[in-house]
Amino acid sequence: MNRYPIQAGDSFAQLAGRFGISIADLMTANPGIDPRRLRIGQTVMIPAGPHASIIDTTKAYGYCDLTRDLAALGTAYPFLQIGSIGYSTLGRTIPVVRIGSGTKEVHYNGAFHANEWITSLLLVKFVEDCANACCNSGQLRTCNVKELFGHVSLFVVPMVNPDGVELVHGTLCADEALYERLLHWNRGSRDFSGWKANVRGVDLNDQFPAFWDAERDRRDVPGPGPRDYTGEAPLTEPEAQAMEAFTRSRDFHLVMALHTQGQEIYWNYRDMEPEGAEKAAIRLGEASGYRPVKLFCSDAGYKDWFIQEYRRYGFTVEAGIGVNPLPIEQFDAIYEDMIGLLLEGLQI
Ligand SMILES: [Zn+2]
Repeated sequence: MNRYPIQAGDSFAQLAGRFGISIADLMTANPGIDPRRLRIGQTVMIPAGPHASIIDTTKAYGYCDLTRDLAALGTAYPFLQIGSIGYSTLGRTIPVVRIGSGTKEVHYNGAFHANEWITSLLLVKFVEDCANACCNSGQLRTCNVKELFGHVSLFVVPMVNPDGVELVHGTLCADEALYERLLHWNRGSRDFSGWKANVRGVDLNDQFPAFWDAERDRRDVPGPGPRDYTGEAPLTEPEAQAMEAFTRSRDFHLVMALHTQGQEIYWNYRDMEPEGAEKAAIRLGEASGYRPVKLFCSDAGYKDWFIQEYRRYGFTVEAGIGVNPLPIEQFDAIYEDMIGLLLEGLQI
């Protein structure tokens, strides 16, 4: 069962067709709703059917959910290529999924920051919607993705920091010594909902060799903790190393790192961004309602390093608005904004 917000022009007949279920099933799942009086934004429940969603977007999202969903997506859509880019500190594989066979390579990632795990769910849901569209009309919103994936290959790393995500959810299986260390770094609190770093207390988005020293001095965080500690040197952390090696192994035309929150798009880095980066950010902004922002005084992030290294399009998108971790109840609204942006990114 999944929630779906009614959009202009929707009818029960159309939804039934789209999700491969009967109108009767739809009515049974929505006893309080009069199909003749649908309102835009009204939530209807979509029951499971042959083309029903694999991804449950109503629950908090952890590493086990991710691995289970990717396996299920791989079975349902055999044209998806699922692999891994390496291992986390605690030995979890960091999955990557590829959709498309084109020569133009694009990369999206999520959950560099532990308590921003909702970005993993955004990306996995997007992969599912793309794959599902490819098996049907090819159309996803206003975009023919079937055609698009003939010349574009999208590589998604939905959860760069799986150990951190598990820590935030309270499901990290850590030995006592590690847990004691984490507690100490978290100032004794067992509430890890504010944790952004990996389980060595290093902020993975401050780990890249792009004016790293400047970031270290600016952050001025002396040691491991929930956020903003750059580590002792660039690329000391296995998750950052895996991302660096993965990026070098491909030929990305554009990368996009999803974070939360702020509804903003960062597109520049120390005047090293390619010409057209601002225009591209404006397009992403128009597709989502998010605000393109020229950022100063920030270094050592993944997109900073990518822009510096390749002089190609690198974006950081701050999805949603509120206090991290954003509650799952906001998922549908955030996805509605982000789906246009994610589709636009494939066409830049
Ligand atoms: Zn972040």
